[in-house]
Parts: sequence; C-alpha cells; structure tokens
Amino acid sequence: MILSYWEKQTYFNKIDLLVIGSGIVGLNAAIDYKTRFPKAKVLVIERGILPNGASTKNAGFCCFGSVSELKDDITRIEENTVWETVLLRYKGLNKLRKLLKDDIISYQQLGGFEVFDIKSDFEASADVISSFNKKMKDTIGLKMVYNVDKTKIKQSSLAGFKYCIKNNYEGQINTGSMMQALLGIAYQKGITILNNIEVDKINDTKTHVEISLKNNLSISSKKVIIATNGFAKQLLPDLDVKPARAQVLITSSIKGLKLKGAFHYQQGYYYFRNIDNRILFGGGRNLDFKGEETTDMRLTEIIQNKLEQILKQNILPKQSYKIEQRWSGIMGVGSEKKPIIKHITKNVVCAVRMGGMGVAIGSLVGQMAVDELEGRKSK
Ligand SMILES: Cc1cc2nc3c(=O)[nH]c(=O)nc-3n(C[C@H](O)[C@H](O)[C@H](O)COP(=O)(O)OP(=O)(O)OC[C@H]3O[C@@H](n4cnc5c(N)ncnc54)[C@H](O)[C@@H]3O)c2cc1C
Repeated sequence: MILSYWEKQTYFNKIDLLVIGSGIVGLNAAIDYKTRFPKAKVLVIERGILPNGASTKNAGFCCFGSVSELKDDITRIEENTVWETVLLRYKGLNKLRKLLKDDIISYQQLGGFEVFDIKSDFEASADVISSFNKKMKDTIGLKMVYNVDKTKIKQSSLAGFKYCIKNNYEGQINTGSMMQALLGIAYQKGITILNNIEVDKINDTKTHVEISLKNNLSISSKKVIIATNGFAKQLLPDLDVKPARAQVLITSSIKGLKLKGAFHYQQGYYYFRNIDNRILFGGGRNLDFKGEETTDMRLTEIIQNKLEQILKQNILPKQSYKIEQRWSGIMGVGSEKKPIIKHITKNVVCAVRMGGMGVAIGSLVGQMAVDELEGRKSK
C-alpha cells in the first residue's frame, strides 16, 4: 500500500502512542493516555473489522469471584495473590461503571448464583463462606458478600441443581453497549482507531518504535502498548500467555422466563444469565482443554452438544425455545490468573492475560499499562 501525503500526515505522522488491539484493555489504555496527555497523538490498530478477540464476544458477567472458584485458586496460587486479584476485579468494575455509566451499559446487580448438584462440593464451599466473607470485607470493604440461597433454584425453575450460594454484589451488563460506549469516548477524545490492519512486527530502536503492518506499511511511534491478550504470543512468543477459546450460545426469546441473574456451575466452567428474555449460556472448555487452546474461532460439536444438553435438562427443562445463535471468542490465560502488565523494551509495554475476568479488570489494566509506560505507581 502506498500512502498519499494526506494519509501519511493525518494518520501516521508523529504518533506518540500506538495501542495494538481495540478490546477493553486497548481502548481503556488509549483513553487513559489521551486524558493524561490531551495533545498526544494516539492511534489504535485493530486487526478485525470489529474488535475481534473477547471484548465483544463475552457474557457480560461483572464477577469478582465465586466461592468454589476462589477456593480452588487458593489451592494452586499463593493466597495473597488470589485476594489481590479479587481487589483488582472489584476496583476495575467500579472504574468501568464510573466511566461508562450504569444506564448506558445496562448494569444490573441481580446477583451471582453458584449452583451445585453434588452435596459434598456444595458443603466444601459452604464451609468457607464465613471466612471468605471476612476476607472480602477486609479486601474490598463489602459486608456479607456470600450466603447460602435456598429459594433461587426453585424460583428460576432449574432442574438437577440442588444447592446454591449467592454473591449479593455480582452484576451483569450489555457487552455490546459497553464496547460501543468505550469506542464513543475514544472518538470523542480524538483518538484514531484503524480497523482491519494487523501488526506483524515491532522493533524498539530506543528512540522510537518501528511497527511493520501486514499490508506492507511501516509506521513509527514514540511508545507502544500491546493489548492483544489471547493473541499475545504472535508478537511476544516468550510470554506466559496462551489462547483459550470460549464457546457460547443464546436462545430465542422465552415467554415468562423466570431466571434472572448471573449463574456459575462447576467452578465457573459453565455460566448462564438472562438477557432480553433469553438465556445466554457458555462454557465447557474443561471438556477439551487442549483443543480449546487455539485462536481459531470455530465451534465444536463436543462442547456445543454438552451446552445444549445442560440447557435442556437443567436450565430450561420443560420450556420451549430455539437456539438462535452460537459464537466463540478467544481469551488469554496462563499459569497465573493475574494479568501481565510489564515493560517488554524501553518504549513497549504489554497488558495481557485477562483470563475470564476481563470485563471486571480490563479498564483498570488499561490504566495500569499507561502507569507502567510512564513509570508511575498504580493506585
Ligand atoms: C465467550 C466469552 C465469555 C466471557 N465472559 C466474560 C464475562 O462474563 N465476564 C468477564 O469479566 N470476562 C469474560 N470473558 C473474558 C473477557 O471478555 C476478556 O478477558 C476481555 O475481553 C479481554 O479484553 P482484552 O482487551 O485484553 O482482549 P481482546 O478483547 O481479545 O482484545 C484484543 C484485540 O487485539 C486484536 N489483535 C490481536 N492481534 C493483533 C495484531 N497483531 N494487530 C492488531 N490487532 C490485534 C484482536 O483482534 C482483539 O480485538 C469472556 C470471554 C469470552 C471469549
């Protein structure tokens, strides 16, 4: 591609910050930088016609931790790190809601409900509720986050699940509205976002960063933030982050749907919620971890069939509905659940590995990436 004088001057000259990836993290980083340095020229480059990773594909749960998931995390990860991550999620959610406003993103705090079918699993989680409530109070300042809920399963007409633990502060949003609102703020602030261009290589010369694009264009920027999450290995092959595909489906509109709230099952490997009188249902990555370690957005029979089966038997028994849409997105996971926000070279910072919690932490991580770039301590 050969650029005209005008194209070069307008879009690619004297870039102060180039952000790679226009998901929640990339857009928040760009907005944060432009807010701190209003005169800076900020360019976001996105390889999809829309953001094409996880930010426009997710389930819109505003979750900061369910009991069995946190309990499991503590067996594998140092306990302080687990609670630090809870704090990041909680702060991130508050930042997201303050920036975008609850009515714009349809934020509803309907509660989070972890359902169990096996008594011993439920009892093991119920046993730690009071100690987790104390930890939550000390970590994020909220009282009585969790309690056993004896009515929700019946109220929601679920079948096969016998026990339920409620998170009183969990909410849900409209994911599309969130991303549209973020893009709106970015445009308003004068940030340029170019879609359908893929960054191929970056080279930090110490005075500036040279960026090669897949359409044979080369541009340069003073600084770069890499916010490519599950695709990070392409530009940063040594990083502890790998892709993890997540598949979902959504039903047709269901008359008299009773289920309301954000539901988790099997340590969060399955999740379902109400949206527009429909059920959005996703998960099943644990059926084929290896196969789902991919950036390919295809759907698979093994997972879609299992989702359909649980939907029919446990979530919507005796109700008539159709599956209206199915899709997948790509998350970034690694040996730890904490995001990686660090300098790669003098002028390049990465902010990746959001796991299944990017709605919660994404906006804070965007800000922390800018803090890292500018050598400031994040609050
Ligand atoms: C099905 C599903 C359900 C989920 N549900 C929830 C939920 O309920 N709650 C929650 O908190 N989280 C959820 N998540 C996780 C959450 O969506 C992610 O953690 C979050 O969106 C990550 O944001 P990001 O900006 O880091 O990455 P992404 O949104 O993936 O953005 C990265 C962007 O980089 C672009 N890119 C990649 N490589 C290049 C390149 N070389 N050049 C240019 N652009 C590039 C990609 O196209 C992509 O748009 C879910 C994820 C999925 C897939």
